[in-house]
Amino acid sequence: MRRGLHSWVMHALADQRRYLIPFRSGLLPQIFTDTLVIGAGVAGLRAGLAASEHGDVIVLAKGDVGTSNTAWAQGGIAGEVGAEAEAIAGHVRDTLKAGAGLCDEGAVRTVVEGASARLEELIAWGMRFDRERGGSLSLGREGGHGRARILHADGDATGRELARCLAARVGERERVRMFEGCFALDLITSGDEPGSPVLGAITHHERYGLQMIWARATILAGGGAGVIYRETTNPRTATGDGLAMAYRAGATLADMAFVQFHPTTLYLPGAARMLISEAVRGEGAHLLDASGQRFMEGEHPLAELAPRDVVSRAIVRKIAEQGGKHVWLDCRHVEGFEGRFPGITRTLRSFEIDPERQLIPVHPAAHYFVGGVRTDLFGRTDAPGLYAAGEVASVGLHGANRLASNSLLEGLVMGEIAGRSAEEMRGVGSAGSWRLVPRQVPAAVISDIRPSAQGELDLADVRSSLRSAMWRNVGVARTGAKLRDAGEMFRFWARYTLDKIFDEPEGWETQNMLLVGSLVAASAGWREESRGCHQRDDAPVARGEYAVHDCWRRGRGAGGGGPTGTLAVEGGAEVGAA
Ligand SMILES: Cc1cc2nc3c(=O)[nH]c(=O)nc-3n(C[C@H](O)[C@H](O)[C@H](O)COP(=O)(O)OP(=O)(O)OC[C@H]3O[C@@H](n4cnc5c(N)ncnc54)[C@H](O)[C@@H]3O)c2cc1C
Repeated sequence: MRRGLHSWVMHALADQRRYLIPFRSGLLPQIFTDTLVIGAGVAGLRAGLAASEHGDVIVLAKGDVGTSNTAWAQGGIAGEVGAEAEAIAGHVRDTLKAGAGLCDEGAVRTVVEGASARLEELIAWGMRFDRERGGSLSLGREGGHGRARILHADGDATGRELARCLAARVGERERVRMFEGCFALDLITSGDEPGSPVLGAITHHERYGLQMIWARATILAGGGAGVIYRETTNPRTATGDGLAMAYRAGATLADMAFVQFHPTTLYLPGAARMLISEAVRGEGAHLLDASGQRFMEGEHPLAELAPRDVVSRAIVRKIAEQGGKHVWLDCRHVEGFEGRFPGITRTLRSFEIDPERQLIPVHPAAHYFVGGVRTDLFGRTDAPGLYAAGEVASVGLHGANRLASNSLLEGLVMGEIAGRSAEEMRGVGSAGSWRLVPRQVPAAVISDIRPSAQGELDLADVRSSLRSAMWRNVGVARTGAKLRDAGEMFRFWARYTLDKIFDEPEGWETQNMLLVGSLVAASAGWREESRGCHQRDDAPVARGEYAVHDCWRRGRGAGGGGPTGTLAVEGGAEVGAA
């Protein structure tokens, strides 16, 4: 595989430091469980439910259960419920097409074919999907889908209802304990080298402080990393902690360049970048430039309904051309707007914008993290005892771009599989004969990193500089030069940020964001092509030699110039070839 001329290697500290803080496991409060699930979005909650069928479970959320990408999801969950084989094959085809040559077909089939069972189960558990008058499920259609197959709830508040339904189910299970306000700092491994078994996590609870949680199996479901960008649709919890802790623990991360940007988020200084769903453009809303002219008609035959990355780039170009900070979304002619989009209308009105009478200022924003911790079809990573599911994971479903509404589905299907697979860590598993180990007796784990001699750090400044640099240089339209500059900046900031020892989440998150941002820039710099949601102005077409998954693993890239290795795109996802 050809490599870029530039060395994309990160600062040595990012690669060397195994833990964020110094500790001695024996001196901390000890908690034991069979399965530890880090994350309480769709993937974590569903994994916790499955794991509770074979043992005790602890589920962690660093905030409350209502704050996650899951709870914020609007449009719906893609899936063919009780459909004919041809309809399911259509969903597979649409997913493969969106993935631009990087989907692993086995993963696509596993998730798409798993949809019906998971969605029917949700309905049986009381999930209130929207229905037509006759009682049948109301199905929406979104960009890239060949037919209507999106189940939704409360119009545009599907995620809130999904989180409610799953959390209620979890609340009924005696074997599941939910720890909210509990921040996982790092996965604990028996040794510091990649490949060492994962034994649980060191956590910081807002009331009880640092704790060791020992588990036979650990399932990472920490979600994405939208917050590494200045503009994002994600809640403030999406700082990529799961990605960073998996990297430090020696698990392989893949396809980090692929970040999906959403073209239309509300742009008001100081306000959260609320997503204004694609469905709004589906109902006929237009994009207008600063002089009130439609501009998407000249950009793509589908105009405002062109793929997300095309619309995002057109908006960024228009803003660069005309100045200003945003373009406008015009919904004034969309009939029945409030009835179809009650949540969006409510939020806009809270900012004194009436979508039926006024233009809405919009701008693209980082939305979905396609890459992640590489897993096989059982949710296993290549760190023994560690599983991953949902947005933090990369099983090969999305390839180079995510098909709309496939991510909640992935969390449901892969969360359930990972939770079930974790049984194998009890030594009696049915998910294959992979790495059966008895319950680990907690070893004495010691991290003896020293405090840095260097001075104080303005954390808020580092965080905001990083987010701006990610947006400017590693955002919608990338070039080799911009990515190299970003890499230089990150290496420089790493020197005096990653050597510090913090005692609260803001510091740990910032260190995680710097590590994840560096990996995204490195992967995007190596990938000298445009494919899916990774677009480079200096390499505008897809190239056959890059039709592979690029893999990144701590320590193994040092001294080289690119990823640790690459994996062929294939019918069944495989871990470990990197
Ligand atoms: C505004 C918006 C709209 C969307 N709309 C849709 C849609 O309509 N359809 C669709 O399919 N997808 C949609 N998505 C994407 C989808 O919501 C996410 O991909 C999906 O919910 C991810 O689920 P998850 O369980 O992997 O992670 P999340 O739901 O993000 O959950 C992550 C969990 O991990 C916890 N966590 C993170 N770090 C730590 C830590 N250090 N310690 C402890 N806990 C931690 C968090 O507290 C949280 O509980 C949308 C996303 C956004 C932001």
